[in-house]
Amino acid sequence: MHISRRQFFRISSAGLGASSLATLGMAPAVAHADVRQFKLLRARETRNNCTYCSVGCGILMYSLGDGAKNAEAKIFHIEGDPDHPVSRGSLCPKGSGLIDYIHSDQRLKYPEVREPGTNEWKRITWEEANARIARLLKDDRDANFIEFNDKGERVNRWLSSGMLASSAASNETGILDFKFARALGMLGMDCQARLCHGPTVSALAPSFGRGAMTNNWVDIKNANVILVMGGNPAEAHPVGFKWAVEAKVRNKATMIVVDPRYNRSAAVADMYSPIRAGSDAAFLMGMVNYLLAHDKIQHEYVKAYTNASLIVRADYGFDEGLFSGYDADRKVYDRSSWAYETGPDGYALRDETLQHPRCVLNLLKKHVERYTPDVVTSLCGTPKADFLKICEIMASTCAPDRTATFLYALGWTHHTAGAQIIRGSAMIQLLLGNIGMPGGGVNALRGHSNIQGYTDLGLLSTRLPGYMDLPRDHQQTLEGYLADITPKADLPNQVNFWKNTPKFFVSLMKNLWGEHATPENSFGYHWLPKWDRSYDMLAYFDLMYRGKVNGYIAQGFNPIAAMPDSGKIRSALSKLKFLVVIDPLRTETSNFWQNHGEFNDVDPSQIQTTVFRLPSSCFAEENGAIVNSGRWLQWHWAGQKPPYEARHDGRILGGIFTRLRELYRQEGGACPEPLLNMSWDYHDPHDPHPEEVAKEANGYALADLYDDSGRLLARKGELLSDFGQLRDDGSTASYCWIFAGSWTEAGNQMARRDNTDSGLGNTPGWAWAWPANRRILYNRASMAPSGKPWDPKRQLLHWDGKRWTGADVPDYPAASPPDSGVSPFIMLPEGLGRLFSVKGMVDGPFPEHYEPTESPLAANPLHPAVSQNPVARVFADDAARMGRREEFPYVATTYSITEMFRHWTKHARLNAIAQPEQFVEISEKLAAKKGIVQGDVVRVSSKRGFIRGKAVVTKRVMTLQVDGQDLEQVGIPCHWGFEGTTRKGFLANTLSPGIGDANTQTPEFKAFLVNVEKA
Ligand code: SF4
Repeated sequence: MHISRRQFFRISSAGLGASSLATLGMAPAVAHADVRQFKLLRARETRNNCTYCSVGCGILMYSLGDGAKNAEAKIFHIEGDPDHPVSRGSLCPKGSGLIDYIHSDQRLKYPEVREPGTNEWKRITWEEANARIARLLKDDRDANFIEFNDKGERVNRWLSSGMLASSAASNETGILDFKFARALGMLGMDCQARLCHGPTVSALAPSFGRGAMTNNWVDIKNANVILVMGGNPAEAHPVGFKWAVEAKVRNKATMIVVDPRYNRSAAVADMYSPIRAGSDAAFLMGMVNYLLAHDKIQHEYVKAYTNASLIVRADYGFDEGLFSGYDADRKVYDRSSWAYETGPDGYALRDETLQHPRCVLNLLKKHVERYTPDVVTSLCGTPKADFLKICEIMASTCAPDRTATFLYALGWTHHTAGAQIIRGSAMIQLLLGNIGMPGGGVNALRGHSNIQGYTDLGLLSTRLPGYMDLPRDHQQTLEGYLADITPKADLPNQVNFWKNTPKFFVSLMKNLWGEHATPENSFGYHWLPKWDRSYDMLAYFDLMYRGKVNGYIAQGFNPIAAMPDSGKIRSALSKLKFLVVIDPLRTETSNFWQNHGEFNDVDPSQIQTTVFRLPSSCFAEENGAIVNSGRWLQWHWAGQKPPYEARHDGRILGGIFTRLRELYRQEGGACPEPLLNMSWDYHDPHDPHPEEVAKEANGYALADLYDDSGRLLARKGELLSDFGQLRDDGSTASYCWIFAGSWTEAGNQMARRDNTDSGLGNTPGWAWAWPANRRILYNRASMAPSGKPWDPKRQLLHWDGKRWTGADVPDYPAASPPDSGVSPFIMLPEGLGRLFSVKGMVDGPFPEHYEPTESPLAANPLHPAVSQNPVARVFADDAARMGRREEFPYVATTYSITEMFRHWTKHARLNAIAQPEQFVEISEKLAAKKGIVQGDVVRVSSKRGFIRGKAVVTKRVMTLQVDGQDLEQVGIPCHWGFEGTTRKGFLANTLSPGIGDANTQTPEFKAFLVNVEKA
């Protein structure tokens, strides 16, 4: 849909007017902002990063007080760091309000407890808090620890207590979280990644080898085409988005936005087109069909660097919505047929002529031929002319000297088929030759400031650091486990870098168990908890809801606000014996037992949960590293001490952990070895310092290390310089192999501040990026096999006769010469980007359109018998809480707005002033039908509950034609609650369903059914 300038102003002013209407008369009393006095000359300047989103903007914090007696440093001003290569001094409305977060009157000051059935918080000492919490944890663990399963296999797990880790705390806190939880045997451990970008890892790793943003923020400026779909970066990542604007201004890039709403990104795009929430896979498969049907692929790239020519097994198939191997009783696929046909040598068969009917490219053609423009239009509601125009623009980048980038975020991940949507974009970029290219890539715009880091650190229920899996029950021996998880090459002469898994894993064991890990005891492998099923957040809260969980720790996490179906979460928390909340702020979760009228209508006397509230420091009060979306580990420093009695997270964990160890030493108890043997050898075990934790993440030589020629690489006790030094014989220790190189004998690489542009916007001297400081992943694919760059203007690397060198660190064996036959996707066993994902996904090797669990259609027109994702997990309690279109006819989609970050900024005065109250966006047609006018209060209901908010009647949301019927969409921002500086409000997630993406269980926040009425 083309929007003229005049139309644009009409739409924008309608929206602005509406927003103002929503604001007028509703600003809280705090609207009278103080005039701050800037006294920078006497101030101390401290560098840090914005704590909100994963752009990771640089900030300078100014404090007064030099630490002399009675002169505690206090931050009084924050501004953007002009030297930062991404933000260059900019901050968005969230970053601009950071000072109000630090000094929010919602900050917690003292440890407190709410006793069962009471209606008050009671101040306690840290000593009492640690003692009581340790006692509760120990008693529950001793009573419920499972040392052996029914088969007699050692499993060392504790299921009746769990933990949620933060997403904005530093890597160093995350490492302590992991050690704490795994030493105790917890499997119910998860982090925010479960609620946001889980599908990104699940989709991109099987496609390219790693599950991360392929390029980086600044590199977006090199694009010729920017397709923003499944995200709204102008709103959610405003400072990172300026690089998209830079591409438009300086590179004459075309920016396209496809979204259910005409959003702020669309307002500056060259083209906007609407789409029905939950139909993105159909759109992308339609685009794949267009590219193949019009022969708009980069042939040389596709042949050389993708698995297009590999031959798939004869028993693979797809029919009526189901791939081969479906087990209807268990709702799972047997994935053995989703594999390559192999020859006698065990390698995959290949047909370079692309004629074989079962070569990947021909299977793909067959799979997508159903997605004609008419089908796409009917399923998505996108006008056909728009769809064809967008395909044409994207197709223009199949030329070697043009690139397109995809920018996406939660608009793609929050679906039952979220990972498959992302796979669709990965396939398009491989067909167009846009992976590894400057200005190309599939750029997952991570959400929270350190959720990339927490994902890297393995803070998910069945994960280990560095993207290894926690062992399962049946993997009873170290050798068997390593054999299972270490891939064999699918083609000869390939890097297959995961073949080094034993080195990564044994080094992890040496880090976790220290001197207790020996070759004789399989490096402590048996102490790790083993898993029998997923204990992801949705599954674990379902167990809690059913009364099977006793204790829970929520650290920097507000699950009642963040998780879907808040009513169920509230009921689940009510069934706990004890809840420990570690947070800088007063959260809805810590006060879930309080009555807040219709916003939280509970009876405290009926809730028998003991709740502890432990005040923690915030970002501005700690040293440490966070990882931005572009995989940069950025070190930051504290500008002041935590207020009142608040403590650093590491000190809080250290206090409970050391107390638990004392109890086990004194009293014994269930399986004490993992707890007592976990390395916690810090200078002060009660208060580990971030610097010492960061160094263990990098890793140490435990013996003198030599290379094959006898050259000394590192002396015993020295920090490792890269992951190439890791060994599987116990002579190295490293918590997270991909972080090896981040803190070496040369110093803290994460603290580097050389912003010199080495070419094409790369700044390798700023901070440190995993892996090995590479800034653009798969960058060898930016050149032909001969080493000639596809586009001389985008030359990142060149062969100097001995090595690859250039503006970036080669993501490739540096000494492997041109035409060596070594392919660029070095983490995959075939070395090739995957159009067909072999066995990497649980719901199909090719993406398929499935309707959301709550669908506005009677059936999926493509295959009515299989409307929804056939392997999406639905718990019985949740199935009963799903609505139908007859009762809830409108499609709701939740989202974030520029001024707010999830449920944190509502505690910051500046942001509370900017967006004081819940609103809901509806179309003019729906408003007219329901008799709703601008500013009316509306009631939005789903099968799970209701919320109320101000109506914003807007042209930004359009009535679509889908499958021959009018389709209305309702936009629901989710930032308010019954705590905070904003007005009290409903938790928007009261409405959303408790079902997740089939691969990751990331909830379907972006497409569910509601009704709307005038309240
Ligand atoms: S919220 Fe994101 S874009 Fe805004 S200042 Fe913080 S890091 Fe930068």
